[in-house]
Amino acid sequence: MSNPINTTLLIIGGGPGGYVAAIRAGQLGIPTVLVEGDALGGTCLNIGCIPSKALIHVAEQFHALQGYAGDSPLGIRAEAPGIDLARSVAWKDGIVKKLTTGVGALLKKHKVTVVQGWARIVDGKTVDVDPVAKGKAGAPQRIRCEHLLLATGSEPAALPFMPFGGPVISSTEALSPKKLPKSLAIVGAGYIGLELGTVYRKLGVKVDVIEAQDRILPIYDADLVKPVHAALKALGVGLHLQTQVLGLTEDGKGLRVQSGKTEDVLPAQQVLVAVGRKPRSRGFGLSSLMLDMDGLAVRVDDRCRTSMTGVWAIGDLTGEPMLAHRAMAQGECVAEQIAGHTRRFVPAAIPAVCFTDPEVVTAGLSPRQAAEAGIDAIDASFPLAANGRSMTLESTDGFVRVVARRDNHLILGWQAVGGGVSEFAAAFGQSIEMGARLEDVGHTIHAHPTQGEAIQEAALRALGQALHV
Ligand code: FAD
Ligand code: NAD
Repeated sequence: MSNPINTTLLIIGGGPGGYVAAIRAGQLGIPTVLVEGDALGGTCLNIGCIPSKALIHVAEQFHALQGYAGDSPLGIRAEAPGIDLARSVAWKDGIVKKLTTGVGALLKKHKVTVVQGWARIVDGKTVDVDPVAKGKAGAPQRIRCEHLLLATGSEPAALPFMPFGGPVISSTEALSPKKLPKSLAIVGAGYIGLELGTVYRKLGVKVDVIEAQDRILPIYDADLVKPVHAALKALGVGLHLQTQVLGLTEDGKGLRVQSGKTEDVLPAQQVLVAVGRKPRSRGFGLSSLMLDMDGLAVRVDDRCRTSMTGVWAIGDLTGEPMLAHRAMAQGECVAEQIAGHTRRFVPAAIPAVCFTDPEVVTAGLSPRQAAEAGIDAIDASFPLAANGRSMTLESTDGFVRVVARRDNHLILGWQAVGGGVSEFAAAFGQSIEMGARLEDVGHTIHAHPTQGEAIQEAALRALGQALHV
């Protein structure tokens, strides 16, 4: 064992949670060591948010061109477009590389020591790191710390009767295809299933999505997902709701499914299993700390403290919602507390976006969640069909909805579905976090013609003052 490193803060995991905590700690002058076994940037930058959005863009551009090769009302004509998949994947990898290199540079700038290797927890203040690659065998590096921050993220959940391997793939493999399959069956109509299902379908693959619940994206309300359901149908994606997966066929070329009493076989050169992710809390000695847990997730309080003094946890390891921006905000919160600031992690809203076509964005409470919380709330929607900018973008399916208290018009939540509405997440989050009332948004001048006018109009409609509907 080489000489131990002593530090104030030791972070395990260099994903959005861990690397943001490290940068903020560095800014605050806290001696910090970050241990990463794989690649800086974690799931999000390497095999999650960024590569998936890059491929969504490739597929969107390809699909739009194909539309122009037919009968385009815009008067554009294109010859039959083709795709060089290897080049698309290389372009996606280039973006990943730029971002992960940038993370490394930021850590260096803020004097964070990065140790490459897999961490094993010895106790709440001691970790051994097994070096990876570069010919370094054996010789673990011991690191001692005052504060240990756990940010080990999550991994894809497998179906026990159909483990990953061969034709059964997770999002990681689906994001780096060498060749497109003729047919792809996707288990789970959640975020990953629908974002990647749309990509593959737009690239010409036959796609079937199998969902156990009675609707796609069951975490959102039924009205919100209706336009997504209709668009997937129009795209030719097979949607099999309230359907169970039984397993691969004997020849491995099909997926056996059951709906009610009816059994069926769906063509499946590959099967993408996207039934959720599970916190990465096993295999590196975390259980020896005997922390309070919620299943596989580490339980934390409103300051991201675990049940052991000096041990903190953030991000996917702490369970739902497993979103990069939540992990980052928690990371900042922990670093600032270690620097002596008084901080709590109690966001008024954590926006969520599903990058389907059309996109879905939510922040705060839906009408139903407000009612369940016993709040007397009003809600109002504004259709994108009445928004000029949406018409010029050929993107009129969808709406913006606001939820507010009836008595004082405090905004409690926003939901939207439509082309490009992911960018509304900023306005939604800000209005809720800043305690805006309907009047604040309704009487703010929104630039014309923008899709954002639909946000203003929804607030005006809730006040009975909508101008364009
Ligand atoms: P991770 O990003 O998982 O990072 C954890 C890191 O810890 C990893 O790099 C891992 O190698 C390292 N590690 C684990 N154990 C050890 C150990 N023992 N020693 C050393 N290192 C270790 N979220 C969004 O908000 N928006 C999106 O659009 C979005 N799209 C996604 C698309 C896909 C396909 C997937 C899979 C996820 C997506 N997510 C998205 C979720 C997002 O990626 C996660 O919420 C986020 O990465 C969580 O950050 P984290 O820091 O908690 O963990
Ligand atoms: P998910 O929780 O979004 O969806 C899983 C879906 O699978 C659900 O609809 C569930 O009902 C269904 N399901 C579960 N078991 C099933 C079974 N046996 N048969 C059929 N259907 C089944 O999970 P995901 O899509 O795997 O994504 C994992 C996590 O990654 C998400 O929760 C999210 O936090 C994160 N993510 C976020 C984004 C984003 O923010 N845009 C994108 C991708 C992933």
